[in-house]
Amino acid sequence: MMMENLKQQLQRIDRKGYKAYNDIRGTFSFPTFQLHMDHIQADPYASPSRARIVVQNDRLKMERDLYESGHRNVAFTDFVARSIGKEIRKQNAGKSIYIDRPGQEILERTAVVCDHNQLEVRLSIHLPARGRTILGEQAKKLLTQQLPKVIEQALFNIDMKGLRKHVALSDDQQTLRTFVEKQDALAFIADGSILPRASGVENRPLDKENAIPFSSPESRAARVSLPHYGEIRGMLIPKGVHVIVGGGYHGKSTLLQALEHGIYNHVDGDGRAYIVTASSACKIRAEDGRGVTDVNISPFIGELPNGKSTKKFNTENGSGSTSQAANIIESLEAGSRLLLIDEDTSATNFMIRDYRMQQLVAPDKEPITPFIDRVRDLYETEGVSTIIVVGGTGDYFDVADTVTMMDEYQPFDVTEKAKEIVKKDESRRIRHEAAPFTTKSERSPKSHSFDARRGKKEKVDARGKDTILYGRETIDLSAVEQCIDPSQTRAISRAIDFLAKKYMDGNTSLGELLDIYEKETASGLDVLSPFKGKHPGDLARPRRFEIAAAINRLRTLETNH
Ligand code: ADP
Ligand code: MG
Repeated sequence: MMMENLKQQLQRIDRKGYKAYNDIRGTFSFPTFQLHMDHIQADPYASPSRARIVVQNDRLKMERDLYESGHRNVAFTDFVARSIGKEIRKQNAGKSIYIDRPGQEILERTAVVCDHNQLEVRLSIHLPARGRTILGEQAKKLLTQQLPKVIEQALFNIDMKGLRKHVALSDDQQTLRTFVEKQDALAFIADGSILPRASGVENRPLDKENAIPFSSPESRAARVSLPHYGEIRGMLIPKGVHVIVGGGYHGKSTLLQALEHGIYNHVDGDGRAYIVTASSACKIRAEDGRGVTDVNISPFIGELPNGKSTKKFNTENGSGSTSQAANIIESLEAGSRLLLIDEDTSATNFMIRDYRMQQLVAPDKEPITPFIDRVRDLYETEGVSTIIVVGGTGDYFDVADTVTMMDEYQPFDVTEKAKEIVKKDESRRIRHEAAPFTTKSERSPKSHSFDARRGKKEKVDARGKDTILYGRETIDLSAVEQCIDPSQTRAISRAIDFLAKKYMDGNTSLGELLDIYEKETASGLDVLSPFKGKHPGDLARPRRFEIAAAINRLRTLETNH
């Protein structure tokens, strides 16, 4: 049908009951695009209607190489989504038209999808009503004036200069990631980066007057030639055990947080655009109260006082140390090669036990082998590196390959000094031995642990960034710090449901399931959505680690192993 038909229909149903909006479900041809009204909300208070705008690429008059390669496609569609979000506001349509608008990170999203032939924009639309009465004239204005105007401005008059810059930045970021990988390194932090955020709840950078830009010590500096930016200098963190020290409030945690987020690309002006971290980096922290299912935490925790096995450890209510141990083992199981740990969010007895305590509490009375006694094995036998913030104990100098000191927000290479101190003042700690690591994924989730039913219907959804509703269960992700966007959380819930329904047979290990997720979504996340083909427009890509984290926190989880 043509746009004119849409106008007529809207006139016809003006002042009728809301249900009559159903008449505009379908496809309408506009001069430059097609509008698909895929789903019409049942009443004015239900979740909004879903629509797609489809434009043929030829009409866009843009060079194909702006979107035809993988990382460029992500940057390109990200920019388009931003452009549309901006224009919706400009047209004062923010209350009626909604797009899943990106933040500081550039993530693969389903809000805008572009393949070789066409570009598709997925929108949610609140169709206007007074009470339950259709406001046809308003709807007409919204769908046949404001909406085309948004598309006209945001797509056909897109800021080409900005778009080219955005895509060029993604080339540079890709080059930087490849560089870090090829150097066999963990991370790169460019000089001039702004690490601190405006506040604890703000993802934007601290303002220029107050932020001290990062600058690498010469002994750690690497220079990389980027295709667009040119030569860039920064600190390269090599594989191994990297300890960050420094006085309180000197910027240690801020540095670690920048590394946590370096798994994602950031927009120009964010301050972190040239910070990259190995893609499998996992933040590890204590998480009192979390449930743990069948995890082999024996590399850290031996037999417990109640005789409970730690080879297949279960708890409804983990302690600081058992939860931190489980978080490590689960990350290894999912394939992580880099652990990021901050003293601020760690259990002290998990991190260290000093000489005096070793004298008082006999080894056979202490089930915990502290991380300090395992961090070298992790690297040397398992190839897993660690970057760890410790301000409180120099015992970690013994196990460090490199030591960086944060001093008034600037990094200094103090590796040599730390080694001298180790020589002069030998630690009297006795090394604790423990069970070997098992990095292989051994647990296979049972499908009946994943019951999506809630009453008569199924319910799988996200509430904000930190909560997944799965059937009658609630999964708490508030301690999963590298999940940073509600659309990722939504995608995680979808991915779990997808895997549970199609692939969990009790014999497929968690690691294999995560491989399947990556393979099945290799050409896009749409497959995860129940609205596939009809506007699955509010998902952003989560890593396998965050999906594993959610599965591991489902309290009804059962596994074979
Ligand atoms: P630490 O972990 O060493 O105690 P934090 O990383 O928590 O210190 O930093 C302390 C405060 O300093 C935070 O409020 C943080 O935003 C601020 N800060 C960190 N780095 C910088 C910087 N480069 N410039 C300005 N302020 C910073
Ligand atoms: Mg700190």
